Amino acid sequence: MNQQHRELIDRDRKVTFHASTHLRDFAHGDAPGRVITGGKGIHIRDKDGREFIDGFAGLYCVNIGYGRTEVAEAIYQQALELSYYHTYVGHSNEPQIALSEKILALAGPGMSKVYYGLGGSDANETQLKIVRYYNNVRGLPQKKKVISRSRGYHGSGLATGSLTGLKAFHDQFDLPMAGILHTEAPFYYQRAAELEGMSEREFSQHCAERLEAMILAEGPDTVAAFIGEPVLGTGGIVPPPEGYWAAIQAVLAKYDVLLIADEVVCGFGRIGADFGSHFYGIEPDLITVAKGLTSAYQPLSGVIVGDRVWSVLEQGTAEYGPIGHGWTYSGHALGCAAALANLAIIEREGLTANAAETGAYLQRQMRSAFGDHPIVGNVRGVGMLAALEFSVNPEQREDFDPALKVGARIAAAALDENLIARAMPQGDILGFAPPLVATREEVDEIVARARRAVDRVTDELVREGAV
Ligand code: PMP
Repeated sequence: MNQQHRELIDRDRKVTFHASTHLRDFAHGDAPGRVITGGKGIHIRDKDGREFIDGFAGLYCVNIGYGRTEVAEAIYQQALELSYYHTYVGHSNEPQIALSEKILALAGPGMSKVYYGLGGSDANETQLKIVRYYNNVRGLPQKKKVISRSRGYHGSGLATGSLTGLKAFHDQFDLPMAGILHTEAPFYYQRAAELEGMSEREFSQHCAERLEAMILAEGPDTVAAFIGEPVLGTGGIVPPPEGYWAAIQAVLAKYDVLLIADEVVCGFGRIGADFGSHFYGIEPDLITVAKGLTSAYQPLSGVIVGDRVWSVLEQGTAEYGPIGHGWTYSGHALGCAAALANLAIIEREGLTANAAETGAYLQRQMRSAFGDHPIVGNVRGVGMLAALEFSVNPEQREDFDPALKVGARIAAAALDENLIARAMPQGDILGFAPPLVATREEVDEIVARARRAVDRVTDELVREGAV
């Protein structure tokens, strides 16, 4: 590491703390830092000038790749025209109007209105408030509980961190809050050993039955909404088992429970469809979007409200007056301008179709490189989302001892190969979510580097007697 880079990191250690980082170790120089200075296409580079393939598109968000001057130009032009004005009491700006039209056109029939935020967490916070408001207007003040899933990821605030179903996000903060429950994750690979002989379809039915049992135990008149990602993301990159969403939706319909599709990762092309909901035949009442909306050129998120909910919200105003909810930066002109430029690139370059086609290639190459690997228990994914789950004994689907930190070691070995892949927070799972502009050649390079990293750690584990 060069001196300039070291100095920058030292300055950072003194003044900043970081997410998912050991606070003390980082502050005292015992955990690594890195300063990223630039990017082009699927590559980023750090202050040393070292170049990495970003196999996770930032945090599955830089879908159009880095360094797109067209988006920078759109932000600049908008800043010259109007950098910001608030969107309270009916104020708007031109990019916001055009963007809402665009989002609703992509979302398809049944979707009515958009409200903006800055990130996935605050958008889901808005969703929770809409759900409460909805049932207050309907005269159902008891109907307020929200059911999420174990291993779901919906944000990092108090309420949205409660929706998130990951232990690390709860234990340190006395979460989940009251009124937020978690049902079984649709994680067939992990449950198949226990549920011996159950087919994928039967497992989906089992998940739906667990959900129904929870609704009945709580009392259907107390359960307002269910939230889920079309593909479980941060919880392990797990595409749903066959028939899952149809089975879940049948239960929700039976008990008048709203469905919130958290499309923060899947939205705008990641799995080869405009929305994950389209891909899996989900008909949500509310949709959350962020990440791919701007490819992270600006922070921007949105909630898309369906007709069923909107018709009630509209009535609410008669009783309550103006809605008591709002963010200073909602509908930020620069965010909306960036989103429009980003969506134009996705459309013009056919990136959603590329995510389907090159994504299918990625899935094939991952399976052929790792399908029979001695420490890979599961290769899975859809479109430009993929994961390897490591196992000490793939036949038995037995997990490694967590103390071995196999996932983190493999991610570190990948980094040595100048490949960024993400050790997912729960379990030994390595995630991939390359920018949607990735080509077949780039996919080959990602898979080759990942293979070298996995082989190297396998050799180490063999030497340690761990496998
Ligand atoms: N929902 C999903 C599905 C996510 O993956 C994330 C972030 N990874 C969020 C919500 C929260 O978004 P943010 O970090 O922008 O608040």
